[in-house]
Amino acid sequence: MFLLMKPEESISVKKFGGTSMGSVERIQNVAKRVIRDQQKGMRSVVVVSAMAGETNRLVAMGEQIFPGYRGAAYDMLIATGEQVSVGLLSMALESLGVKSRPYLAHQLGILTDSTFSKARIQNINTQKILADAERGIIPVVAGFQGMDSDFNITTLGRGGSDTSAVAIAAALKAKECEIYTDVPAVFTADPRLVPKAKEIPKLSFEEMMEMASLGSKVLHIRSVEIGAKHNVKIHVRSTFEEREGTWVVPEGEIMENPVVTSVTHEALTAVLKVFPLPHGSQILAEIFEELAKQSVVVDIITQSHSEHGQRLAFSIPVEDIAAAQKIVKQKIPNAEIEVMNDVSKVSIVGVGMRNHPGVAARFFRTLAAKGIEIHLVTTSEIKVSAIVDKKHLQLAAQELHSVFSLDA
Ligand code: ADP
Ligand code: ASP
Ligand code: MG
Repeated sequence: MFLLMKPEESISVKKFGGTSMGSVERIQNVAKRVIRDQQKGMRSVVVVSAMAGETNRLVAMGEQIFPGYRGAAYDMLIATGEQVSVGLLSMALESLGVKSRPYLAHQLGILTDSTFSKARIQNINTQKILADAERGIIPVVAGFQGMDSDFNITTLGRGGSDTSAVAIAAALKAKECEIYTDVPAVFTADPRLVPKAKEIPKLSFEEMMEMASLGSKVLHIRSVEIGAKHNVKIHVRSTFEEREGTWVVPEGEIMENPVVTSVTHEALTAVLKVFPLPHGSQILAEIFEELAKQSVVVDIITQSHSEHGQRLAFSIPVEDIAAAQKIVKQKIPNAEIEVMNDVSKVSIVGVGMRNHPGVAARFFRTLAAKGIEIHLVTTSEIKVSAIVDKKHLQLAAQELHSVFSLDA
């Protein structure tokens, strides 16, 4: 072993997102902040995202060359933004007299499966970063990327640098992982959509997972899953202010739960409506098995019968429309497929809902009172989620935020 101290006592994993790394000056500020912590005795492993807008630029170029293409070449392309950030931040640290080492994911053996553009991390070799930290060298690691067993570069899905950071923290057995971003905390709703949103000081893994899966971009869902599984607390905080933000922790550490913790939205979503399908559950099994095989995450599903056959509707991320359409066409060549892509998802989340009947009724009443039509709906113990027209999204989110007493 390289360390006399246990790694968890000494290493802090810090992830800086796109806006935080958005310019040369901002990168220099990140370097200064990491150095300030180092001077206080903290040893850091830094994980970085591509500079703001860079991954979108790469995706757009790829779309021009081959629309809808997914595979090794696509991941090779979109992983490059992080390399620039790693190089610049590592140089910024060295320019300030601190030793640093730049790493791409494959140099640390960040091994993933081969699901391109949605790969999952399987293993991380922490030897090099532990050795660096031991010698006072600051490792800077490219987020978002990995390598499969065939040495292909893979990526973890948009927003995936959070997952790189929490996975590295878990591999180092760290107790926490710091996610530095452009908001000071996780709020009761996206402050860009609901200006009256408030900061949440503590949030359970379960709620944060639900929020992430329902569209809240602030953390990548896999990062929260890994945090929960390996007991790594996640501290979401501002890059631009020196204060605490939101702690994402096990549910047992939260003393009081409001009924609803947050209103979450996904502005871009799509619904596929299919009719007629042959009767029986066999065809449904076949369609959803194939969607799962191709890593299309299906969210809300409704199904009903008429004398002409089954009617099916389900919601999926917009980037999966083409793949889902293809699968349905293959399975039922005669069915009519209608794609609704001017719709959004709005949800309420809270573990406090478990013990409170009538939350769904209040959700429906609130939207009905504003004349907002609901296309699909789903509920669980801790969420109510509905697909509405995109033009109604902001009104729906703001009304729900007020009705469930979340307004600042
Ligand atoms: P980064 O580039 O640092 O990873 P992201 O853009 O991925 O940052 O995530 C931060 C953004 O998440 C914020 O700017 C905010 O608009 C959005 N967001 C969505 N829901 C929330 C929420 N409930 N609380 C805070 N931010 C949210
Ligand atoms: N740069 C990647 C993206 O834009 C990963 C990340 O920001 O977390 O999706
Ligand atoms: Mg992000």
